[in-house]
Amino acid sequence: MDNSLNFTVTILGNSAAIPTKTNHLSSQLLTYNGIGYLIDCGEGTQMQLVRYNIKFGIIKHVFISHLHGDHFFGLVGLISTFHLLGRDKPLNIYSPAPLKSIIDIQLNVTHTDLSYELIFHELQEDCLLKILETDNMQAYSFPLVHRVPTWGFKFIQRAKQKRIKKSFVEEYKPSVSNILKIKEGHDYEDTNGKIIPNSDITIPPPKPLSYAYCSDTKFDKSIIEYVKNSTLLYHEATFENSMQQRANDKFHSTARDAAVIAKEANVSQLLLGHFSARIKDLDKLKKEASEIFKPSFISEEGKDYKISH
Ligand SMILES: [Zn+2]
Ligand SMILES: [Zn+2]
Repeated sequence: MDNSLNFTVTILGNSAAIPTKTNHLSSQLLTYNGIGYLIDCGEGTQMQLVRYNIKFGIIKHVFISHLHGDHFFGLVGLISTFHLLGRDKPLNIYSPAPLKSIIDIQLNVTHTDLSYELIFHELQEDCLLKILETDNMQAYSFPLVHRVPTWGFKFIQRAKQKRIKKSFVEEYKPSVSNILKIKEGHDYEDTNGKIIPNSDITIPPPKPLSYAYCSDTKFDKSIIEYVKNSTLLYHEATFENSMQQRANDKFHSTARDAAVIAKEANVSQLLLGHFSARIKDLDKLKKEASEIFKPSFISEEGKDYKISH
């Protein structure tokens, strides 16, 4: 089965600031219904996409959290490769405002006249803000607390419609227009004028799945509200607990910080990432996070995480 039809996130890079022998710079690909949402694009992201056999064509939207090099230095390379491959579909980029001029100057000096359109969307509000809505997905940005303006992202499946109980359909044989009304939440009136409450004849839709991304940020309780009840939260854990002071000074988080946010936000699972090259034992981070929030996991590059209840 085509994995991109599921609601899945594939980690392409989870190293903080500099790459290591085994870990790449921040990037991940969220996919749903055959559409790819690239989140951050550190240097080498296009190589990772190639390595993991991800089709470039599925990427329609790119979200850049902030303008530290480890989160966007790979973008111009990816844009250029799309051009060389003759892409014709537009690419939407959601980013801090200055990114547009950075990309423009690189394209200008290389005399690159792109084969497709880049559509920039500036991140600028200091609150939870809807930045994208399609038939099956909504994306929101929200502020994080870092040394430069930084945003997190939350992706929520569009709610599916209610389903009508089979027994009701068999007994009453409602018309198509009545079926549509019932799915919208209306009660049903039978031929004798008897009202049947909507709740008696429908099955509620499954709770929409959601994915939240927080990298990079200092521990800050304001984040809890933004990521509340997410199915899966990816949160940076640049440092281990013994480096708490360093984390505070550098506007980053420890494994414990990430776990406290996950727990208080009542998310279902926590995925840790953005690891400092100084951390040699990632299991220690998992242990530290799990002491506070049990379903905490170390993100692994190349692994697909299916977002499900
Ligand atoms: Zn970073
Ligand atoms: Zn940063």
